[in-house]
Amino acid sequence: MIQRINVKCLTCGTISTLRIDIGHSKEQKHVFNCSGCGEEIEIKLDLSNPPNVGFDLVNNCECCEEEGIIENLSSENQIPESYRHDPFFSPGIFAAQQLFAEMKEKGVTLDRKEYERGVSEAERILRLDDEWPKIKRAWSQFNKNNITLADNISKQNSIQYPESAAGALHWIYDFCARTLCNGRIQLLIDAKEKIYEIAEKYEEEFDKYLVYHSSNVKNRIRKYYSIFERFFDAYSEYSQLFISYKLNRPFIKSALSSYDFAKTRDFYGFAFEVLGSGAVTFAAIQNIEAGIEYDTFATKDFTLDNYLQIDKVNRIKCFERIPEFINIYSEYNVSIRNGSHHATFEYDPTKKIISYQPKKDPQKIYTIDYFDYINGCVELLFSCSSMVCIDILLFILAMKKQKSKKSRHS
Ligand SMILES: [Zn+2]
Repeated sequence: MIQRINVKCLTCGTISTLRIDIGHSKEQKHVFNCSGCGEEIEIKLDLSNPPNVGFDLVNNCECCEEEGIIENLSSENQIPESYRHDPFFSPGIFAAQQLFAEMKEKGVTLDRKEYERGVSEAERILRLDDEWPKIKRAWSQFNKNNITLADNISKQNSIQYPESAAGALHWIYDFCARTLCNGRIQLLIDAKEKIYEIAEKYEEEFDKYLVYHSSNVKNRIRKYYSIFERFFDAYSEYSQLFISYKLNRPFIKSALSSYDFAKTRDFYGFAFEVLGSGAVTFAAIQNIEAGIEYDTFATKDFTLDNYLQIDKVNRIKCFERIPEFINIYSEYNVSIRNGSHHATFEYDPTKKIISYQPKKDPQKIYTIDYFDYINGCVELLFSCSSMVCIDILLFILAMKKQKSKKSRHS
């Protein structure tokens, strides 16, 4: 559904006719640059009371009667640059055309039942922003160690999200796995298989490691939560690209239609830090894989405690030889992290380019396309999703082992 509204830029008076593709979220936000002066214009749609659409003119615009330059906006579908001002462009039809072309190419035909099941599963995978406010309550209670409350909140949601009947951890795992579906789920599958292989081959040492893992896993799950919170707080900035990954569909670079840099500038730096702390899981497991104790490294006298003191950028080096692990860290760029974290990021809205100075070489100026930056952020979220799943998997494994040990002793 397309909603039309005319707005006038408060900076230069240019009139834009917005054709907004209504998505599925309860709130939809758009930041775009005025075609006249390039200044940012921000509007917000309140979709919590369908079929009514509430408009909030947040920044640099006012309503007007007159029609002006067409601006097509969408938070879920792609809008190629050449269609940005097209008065008849339909993002939904464009998406359906792409889908049918893909189906034809793969020779896919669906019967009705299969189709309906597919649609309901796809909805759960695509509508994670609807699920987030619900799972957020369970996850934050889990972080506070109110496990019974967290599990109860989960069970209340078990009709819509069946995995939550098994408790908060199972729900969080399932939610994170669904963020990876479809485009990035292989990251998790490959790493899991590798871990199972190592656990089986070095069972005794792996069991020792599981005890250590249980002692600090909750702290990490809490840190990952803060990344998901940041991501979904600024969801409309990432959603177009995020959904195109879910649909396994190439994204046309110029098709991004939200540019709220202030909302996204810190994300990369924070996600990098949390992933750096999380790397300890792989560091310990690769020690086991090398045939040594989980808390000793190939370098003499270097222990896990020493490891936790080194720079986050160097923490991934010890598992570089294991593709199933290092692939999860493929988007882990320290100079972008420094720009994001040390606030040297500067954004040029007319060119849609971020420039930043690397810490080691302050004379140099690096640049990155805003699109590439957002893509990096989305990739880091996928990395976090994979790591949450792996940490929960190991935690549940450890609890099972403990239980079976207890029942053997009693
Ligand atoms: Zn203007």
